[in-house]
Amino acid sequence: FLPQEIVRKKRDGGTLTKEEIQFFVRGIPNGEVTEGQIAALAMAVYFNDMSMDERVAFTLAMRDSGQVLEWKSLDLPGPVVDKHSTGGVGDVVSLMLGPMIAACGGFVPMISGRGLGHTGGTLDKFDSIPGYSTVPEPELFRKIVKEVGVAIIGQTAQLAPADKRFYSIRDTTATVESVAMITGSILSKKLSAGLDALVMDVKAGSGAFMPTYEKSVELAESIVKVGNGAGTKTSAILTGMNESLCPAAGNAVEVRVAIDYLTGKSRPARLHEVTMALCAEMLVISGLAANHEEANARLQHALDSGEAAERFARMVTALGGPADLMDKPDAHLAKAPILVPVPALESGYAWSTDCRGLGLAVVALGGGRVRPQDPIDFAVGLTDLVELGDKVEAGQPIAMVHARTQEAAEQAVRQVQAAYRIAAEAPVAQPMIYKTIR
Ligand code: URA
Repeated sequence: FLPQEIVRKKRDGGTLTKEEIQFFVRGIPNGEVTEGQIAALAMAVYFNDMSMDERVAFTLAMRDSGQVLEWKSLDLPGPVVDKHSTGGVGDVVSLMLGPMIAACGGFVPMISGRGLGHTGGTLDKFDSIPGYSTVPEPELFRKIVKEVGVAIIGQTAQLAPADKRFYSIRDTTATVESVAMITGSILSKKLSAGLDALVMDVKAGSGAFMPTYEKSVELAESIVKVGNGAGTKTSAILTGMNESLCPAAGNAVEVRVAIDYLTGKSRPARLHEVTMALCAEMLVISGLAANHEEANARLQHALDSGEAAERFARMVTALGGPADLMDKPDAHLAKAPILVPVPALESGYAWSTDCRGLGLAVVALGGGRVRPQDPIDFAVGLTDLVELGDKVEAGQPIAMVHARTQEAAEQAVRQVQAAYRIAAEAPVAQPMIYKTIR
């Protein structure tokens, strides 16, 4: 094969064979395929798309460009399962979901990512726990998955290296927005964890990665078809991202929400609904529960008995975090020096939020990155965010800003005020779970 002939075939609307895709993808991490050829193929795929068979071959080739984790030799007494989300604001689900699934007999080797654009990243949230190592030695990672049932860590350079180069070229050549390539990119990384089952949380709404509801459905359907085609039981749930999923957005402030959720101190309704739906789907498709009723009962028991909280605590200490984090979160989680309320500009009902704008306010406070190498301020963020439909009075707080400086706080206040639209009437409540695709 020649890379330029493969590009030509896709440019002219042809269908690539598995062998052609494997040849091309193999040349990405080792440099045998040039940046220009990769960019040209990305643009050809952007315009001419890939069939489901091409997407499966593309996903598997990218997965196999690096290490694929293997769990068979450990003889785990349950399935290896994971969840992935397309990203959002206040989406702290992974922190509770991993321990909840572990408490129900699943094994969750979760390789999580950093925040991207306006969305938060699970990895950044764990980095805000002092001492917690998100880059453990592979042997320690395996040991914790086996003994605790869950370990949430960061991506290593060994996993799906073809995607790393391919994605960075797509990012700079206006070719990210292709459902075929997004499917391959997400799934190659997730499937390199050696999963039996995967549930995908595809967000829809003003804070979602996909620009429209229809595009979110298209991505969910593609991921389900390709994931199953690649040999991993996969389903997707379309969930709402029209406002922050939990009342906080940031890093340490979201870890606090997760701890309060696991210990039973506070379980915000929308967050609980989405967490339970994703967990139940994981239990059902991996065979740990016969149906959703049974799954919900087991999950509720895992929470009420304290078993899920205990799994979280064990994971944290096994990875180097404080042993008393659950009892004394305030003693360990960073706190911002400045705390100011965001006064509502008028009276009425919270009608809508520009959820992306809320995420960008957190980034501007220092809670996310503008450039990949930027450090993060774990302490900053937003809390006490009012929910859509809540009644607000002019001058009363619609959120609290946690900031490093007075200037940053003032800017965030304006951004949050701009992100909320307040109207005379309450909006029609939107469902959190739109649909499940299997
Ligand atoms: N996130 C990914 O990991 N890959 C994409 O292509 C888009 C979003």
